[in-house]
Amino acid sequence: MIAVKNDQEKNKSIELYFHIPFCVRKCLYCDFLSFGDGRFRQDYLKALAQETEMHAEECREMTVSSVFFGGGTPSILEPAELEPVFGALRRSYRLAEDCEITVECNPGTVTKEKLDFYRKMGVNRLSIGLQSARDEELRRIGRIHTRRQFLETWEAAAAAGFTNCNLDIMSALPGQSMEDYRETLDFLVSLDPAPKHVSAYSLILEEGTPLEKMVREGTLTLPGEDADRAMYEETGKALRNMGLERYEVSNYAVPGYECRHNLGYWTGVPYLGLGLGASSYFGGCRYKHTDKMEAYLADPAGTRLEEQILSEADRMSERMILGLRLIRGICAEDFAEEFGRTLKEAYGEIIERHTREGLLTTEKDENGRSFLRFTEKGLDLENYVLSDFV
Ligand code: SF4
Repeated sequence: MIAVKNDQEKNKSIELYFHIPFCVRKCLYCDFLSFGDGRFRQDYLKALAQETEMHAEECREMTVSSVFFGGGTPSILEPAELEPVFGALRRSYRLAEDCEITVECNPGTVTKEKLDFYRKMGVNRLSIGLQSARDEELRRIGRIHTRRQFLETWEAAAAAGFTNCNLDIMSALPGQSMEDYRETLDFLVSLDPAPKHVSAYSLILEEGTPLEKMVREGTLTLPGEDADRAMYEETGKALRNMGLERYEVSNYAVPGYECRHNLGYWTGVPYLGLGLGASSYFGGCRYKHTDKMEAYLADPAGTRLEEQILSEADRMSERMILGLRLIRGICAEDFAEEFGRTLKEAYGEIIERHTREGLLTTEKDENGRSFLRFTEKGLDLENYVLSDFV
């Protein structure tokens, strides 16, 4: 069981993440912890509901500010399978009145019945995987859905009353030209209702995946670095024109619709990960569940593989690396309050050097609070700068 090691963390917010490691089949580029068959599904959900109850005691003085069902493909589950998990959550945790509850959905697995069930369970945000609006590209990366199926899901979500939906898109797909990618962006622009949030990532070729093998063997080719960069810039332009602001390196939202769950993660809110392979950051420690299904089923709450107690230096470093991903940057006052020293005292030389290079800047917001953030140029050289905070 995860012990609360720091009394100050009591009475604070916590975020919950539920991992649902099942998909219809594996996409060709995917190295997430998910299985393309339904083996263990029933036992897993039983174990997940049990684990949810088991951790409740440690969180009893904390308020849950967000809940995220991710995977995998959570929308593959039938309402009757998911209900006991929601039951355990509602029974055992104190949810904030405005708690953000997100379910990741993949087109081709969503039905009206499931959407109505999510609403009934208090889900108020969906994250839907579009990836591309071109069927040919979807096929090439092994997605199970078509553009038509995505549209059906999008319209059904709106009809079921969901007004806060994220869309995931991917660029730099195999064989994708800029013109092809524009088709996906144009499709986004044409959506009614318009998305409130978009996560836009370049495809990352993960070692050991079928797609990586195809690229290595020359069956498929990926756009080069310049094309990747141009697509990234095109994304920013198209989404800005739609009224979405970039608030994190890869995330855009209509102001007020930023993903609370991810914001919490980037700003150091503790989180409890439930389910196979899930990570937690809680009481100043980092935990990770086993990724072995049998071991998890045998002891759902006791199969943490790693435990790392973070030193203050680790926590400061993590705060810098995650916080600088946000376009608004890191709040200097919050940092000083949390660590008892100013950003200048902790990282003065590094900040000065990168500020001189035009990569970092410090600005005040309308309330007079100072934020250290990347400049446009700095965002391009993100890794170079961040390596100094490790
Ligand atoms: S749907 Fe997502 S988690 Fe499932 S195989 Fe595809 S990329 Fe992986």
